Amino acid sequence: MRIQPPFIGNSRHPGHSRGEVFLAGAGPGDPDLLTLRALRLMQEADVVVYDALVSEAIMALVHRNAERIYVGKKQGNHALPQEAINALLIDLARQGRKVLRLKGGDPFIFGRGGEEIEALAAHGIPFQVIPGISAANGVSCYAGIPLTHRNHAQSVLYATGHLCDGSLDLDWIALTRPHQTVVIYMGLSALPLICEKLVEHGLPPAHPIAVVQQGTTPYHRVVSGVLSNITEQAAAAALRSPSLIIIGEVVQLHHDLAWFRHESPADMAITAVG
Ligand code: SAH
Repeated sequence: MRIQPPFIGNSRHPGHSRGEVFLAGAGPGDPDLLTLRALRLMQEADVVVYDALVSEAIMALVHRNAERIYVGKKQGNHALPQEAINALLIDLARQGRKVLRLKGGDPFIFGRGGEEIEALAAHGIPFQVIPGISAANGVSCYAGIPLTHRNHAQSVLYATGHLCDGSLDLDWIALTRPHQTVVIYMGLSALPLICEKLVEHGLPPAHPIAVVQQGTTPYHRVVSGVLSNITEQAAAAALRSPSLIIIGEVVQLHHDLAWFRHESPADMAITAVG
């Protein structure tokens, strides 16, 4: 008789004692954009620590017996401080559990994933990192905006538009280079300031720009325009977070290349009633 060796990869299996943290990207929202590895870990982990960017549709795929710990912002509340999240991951791993730390997009792109594994490394906790499709990649594909294109852009620059004390400390000269696409994460609140600074540093007011809200999800919306009018357009459309800003000639291609059709939640509600 052949005896099956224990399945080490699943800590629900008795005999597993060494905790480990898996820092995984969950992609921009559409569950079909998860990697197979992330999905497998969602089935095997003892505990999943996740934040606001991980969509409900994705959390629905986590094994029903896994504990879920939410560490993101709640309405009107602050997110758990980074140090507290680091301490939580260390504590869970020390209990011998298989911990999945699930983050939106890719954990190494504006995700503070580096800080989390630095803390794990400092405490001797074993970890692995699983890449995810970052918002720039997923959202641009679904919006029909190729980030590079032989005729329009030979480089891409990712930046954060997160405001610190109401101001933005960005390398505006680098952001205004020709034949380049600029992708700005966390920039919706700073949109007027970003447009103003780019024009001040030499980009024409008619330079193309788009804002994509909740790309790849049923709430996906694209508002495109130019630096001089996008602020009003985004306000008129009442765009909300998470939204990604894409700046450059490639934005003009959206008009012909937009392909993603989805039922908006409002349509779904009407269908359900009818
Ligand atoms: N690690 C993530 C980024 C986290 S920062 C990644 O790789 O994608 C959070 C910012 O990401 C949001 O403010 C927004 O700018 C962007 N973002 C994430 N998901 C998005 C989505 N589905 N649609 C538009 N922007 C998104």
